[in-house]
Order: sequence, then structure tokens, then C-alpha cells
Amino acid sequence: MEKSITYWIRKRAYITPNRVALIGGDREFTYQELLQEINRVAAFLHHKLLLHKGDRIAILSQNRIEYFITYFATAQLGLVAVPLNIRLSTAELAYQIEDSGAKAILFERELEPLFNQLNQLVSFESTHTFEDGYTLFQMENPISDSSSPNDPYIICYTSGTTGKPKGAVLTQENMFWNALNNQYALDLTSSDNCLVILPLFHIGGIGLFAFPTFLSGGTVIVPGKFDPKQVLKIIDDLQVTVMMGVPTIFNALLNEETFHQTDFTSVRVFCSGGAPCPVELIQEYHEKGIPLYQGFGMTETSPTVFMLSKEDYKRKVGSIGKPVMFCDIDLVDDNGKSVKQGEVGELVIRGGNIFKEYWGLPEKTAEAIINGWFYTGDLAYKDKEGYIYIAGRKKDMIISGGENIYPLEVEQVIGEIKEINEVAVIGIHDEKWGEVPIAIASIREGQSILEEHIQNYCSSKLAKYKVPKRIIFLDELPKNATGKLDKKLMQQQYNKKVELK
Ligand code: ATP
Ligand code: MG
Repeated sequence: MEKSITYWIRKRAYITPNRVALIGGDREFTYQELLQEINRVAAFLHHKLLLHKGDRIAILSQNRIEYFITYFATAQLGLVAVPLNIRLSTAELAYQIEDSGAKAILFERELEPLFNQLNQLVSFESTHTFEDGYTLFQMENPISDSSSPNDPYIICYTSGTTGKPKGAVLTQENMFWNALNNQYALDLTSSDNCLVILPLFHIGGIGLFAFPTFLSGGTVIVPGKFDPKQVLKIIDDLQVTVMMGVPTIFNALLNEETFHQTDFTSVRVFCSGGAPCPVELIQEYHEKGIPLYQGFGMTETSPTVFMLSKEDYKRKVGSIGKPVMFCDIDLVDDNGKSVKQGEVGELVIRGGNIFKEYWGLPEKTAEAIINGWFYTGDLAYKDKEGYIYIAGRKKDMIISGGENIYPLEVEQVIGEIKEINEVAVIGIHDEKWGEVPIAIASIREGQSILEEHIQNYCSSKLAKYKVPKRIIFLDELPKNATGKLDKKLMQQQYNKKVELK
């Protein structure tokens, strides 16, 4: 019972009814008002859209207050939310809607053109905008919670960095453990003001650190579209204490002209995750006295697995920290045996935050979860003090003449060159060596650098076989819909097509 989301919110509304729970745009809800809204929306979903326990409901929206209210209302009814990534193509979205079997869709008016395109490809039993549905429905009687915390709660599609996005089925219990793990990791309390800028269709927006803040009785602030200037203003005006982001967001904030006038003194934790964060970027924040931590999470782990602590975020720049409170990890070889300290192994994870299954993909679930351990496909190593460092994805590893090359190691070296803006290292086919590394890089505005200089710098720091055979310069590197480097695409574009010198 205590692991059900409805329980936390009802209890919060009872214990701390007048604390501000949620701020978005010019609206604000206390915990008591939030519960009333949730009840109203649950009634709407139940009586008007005729949705019942286990039904899937798709959500097509940018970040806004109603997104959270819908997540809570679906929890109350035992429905399964299917948040849609609005940056996907209509064909990709149609696939996710059909794959999940969503009966109904809620969308925001601003996205009506996208919804109309989708509606031609898939059919729903009912479709509503937040604006129409919610404001017209006035019923306030709470509907009893018929779900169990271990039932599917959200089908969250992975980012699709390594293949087609997979629907990770997360339960309310998964969200509970994630909330508790983050609460312990960050010492979250009711005095925290959490700013949510990651999209709410991604687990990062929900789990970092919105749900943990609700559980703690703090305030969650949800602006709409990501706009660096507005984010900086909110941090300053609303005394933000915690905020999760990805490296590209922290880079964008730093490059915003108002960054230097912003007062960051209220900030306890900025945390970067989702992709490797360049050490130089973390250090730039630290030099300005801003606590930028690194953490590690995955859709399948609801999402937090690692987080640096307040004692270590400065001392251990580059590490993702140690596993959070109720989550165990190991690093294993191809036979599932633990590797020695300092050796690279596959990261495996166990805990209450591990997803239930991949939706409709029993073979993939069976490959991923073995004896309760989730095999992540990420490679990592541990230093003498027990801190973990990510070495990259197993699928990205390059084998050149029998030697393993971890692209991340080479990317980190190239990232040290001040003219470099972004870089990706991939392996391409080579007659002699099987595979060889090449780099694809973009240069900072107004700067220039020669291919040979990058290669010479790499040679001074890395073994010869790790030095990229070619550097390809692009204005911007291709990214997937979650903003991660799209190495799959780069592979398709450059494999067998690059002339090696
Ligand atoms: P897909 O599973 O569809 O290929 P994805 O793995 O990118 O996509 P997500 O669940 O959004 O989908 O991302 C989780 C992955 O992001 C991790 O497995 C890891 O590879 C990467 N990641 C997360 N945090 C970090 C970090 N701090 N440093 C390096 N990589 C990270
Ligand atoms: Mg993944």
C-alpha cells in the first residue's frame, strides 16, 4: 500500500495540505489542491473516457502541470500511461501507440497538427485535449484505487540509441524505490524546490527529481518548452535547489548570456546524466562555485542507479559515483563472473527499481534480466575506493586487430582539446584490422583545428591503435530524439565510405 503513488499523494495532502506541491506557468497547486485535481481527472478518465484498470492511455504533450496530474490519476485507476516522445516521426509514434495498444490519447491543443497526422495512421477509441477534457469535467468524487503497486504503471520507451526503442514496463513500486533512492542520495526534504526541465515523456523528467520531491513534500516547478534564459530566471526567482539535466542542457545554460548574472546560491545539486558528461564542462561549473554532480540512470531502472555524493562530487569528477541506497551492482565478464577491481566489465543491476519487463518482448526481457540481475549492456570499471566510471556501451566497443577500444576513452581525450565542441568515435570496417576507429567532431564557433593536430594529440595520450584514422568535421553531430549522439546513423553514413589514409 505504501508503495502506491496514490497513497503518498493522499498522505501528503493530509499531512501537509497547504504546502505548494506544483508550479507551472502562472498556476500553483498546494498538495490539497493537487489531490482534488487528481480526483477530478481520475473521474474524467473513468466516467468519460471509460478507461479501466490495465488500459493503456497515450499522452502527447510538452511539459505542463496536466502531465503530472495525468500520471497521478492513471496511478489512482491502475491505468498504464504511455508517454510519447514528441520529437519522434509520426511513423515512429504510430508504432509505439500500436505496440502499446493504447485505447485513448490525451494531447495538448498546441500539438493538434501532430495529433491529426497520427490520427490518420492509428485509431483510438477516444481522443481528448487536456484543455477540453479536464476543464469541462467537474466531478470530484474520488474513485477507489484498484491497482496493485506491482502492476504495469508506465510503458516508457527507451531512447533508441542502440536500436528500436523498447517499451520498458515500470510499476508504481519501481517509482517508489526510485523516489526513496533519490531522496537518500540528495537528502531531499520539504524545503526543496525541484525544477524539471527534462521531458516528462522520458523517465528522467518523472523520476529525476519530481516524484522524489513529491514524496518529500517539496515543490516541483515545471516550465514548458526548454528555454535556457527562462530556466536561469526561474532558478534565480524561485530559489531552485535541485535540477537534473543532460550534458547538452548544462552546456546550453553555460553559453546563455544571462548565465553570469544568475544567482545560483540556492542550488544544492545540479545533476548531469543520460550520457557521458565532459569533465571540462563539470569543472567549468565547479570553478563558478556551482555544484554539478554526475549520476547514471536508465529507463529500465526508473532511472537512478548511481549518484555522486556531496562529499565527492568535486573530488571525483568523471566518476558516476556509487550505487544508490537500495540498489546493488556488479561488473561481470562474458561468463557472468565478477571482474577484478580496475578491469572493465558489464554493469549488472539488482533492486526494487528494476523494470518488470519489455512490453511484448519476452525474449528481450529474458536476455536482459537473468536471476534477478539486469544486464545493462554498459561497460564500467571501479577504482580503488569503489567509485564507478563508465567505459561506454558494449555495442559501441571497437575491436581492432584483437585489441578492445572503448570509444569513450578516445572521446574524452579529444574533448580535452579546447577547439572541440562535440566528438563521437565509431569503428568502421577495415580489411587488415577488422575495425578501426574514426572520429566525427564539431568545432567551437570561431575556432579551427587540423585533423593532424587532433591525431597528434591523441598519439601523445593513447596507444597507437586507439588513435582515430580519420577525423571528419561536421557543423553539428547527428542526435536521436532524446538528444543523444546517434552513433547508429554515423555508422551507416561512414562505414565503408570513408577513405582511410
Ligand atoms: P536504447 O536502450 O533504446 O538503446 P538508451 O540506452 O540511450 O537507448 P536510455 O534508457 O534513455 O536509453 O539511456 C540509458 C543509457 O544512457 C545507459 O544505458 C547509458 O548507456 C547512458 N548513460 C546514462 N547516464 C550516463 C552517464 N552518466 N554516463 C554515461 N552514459 C550514461
Ligand atoms: Mg538502453
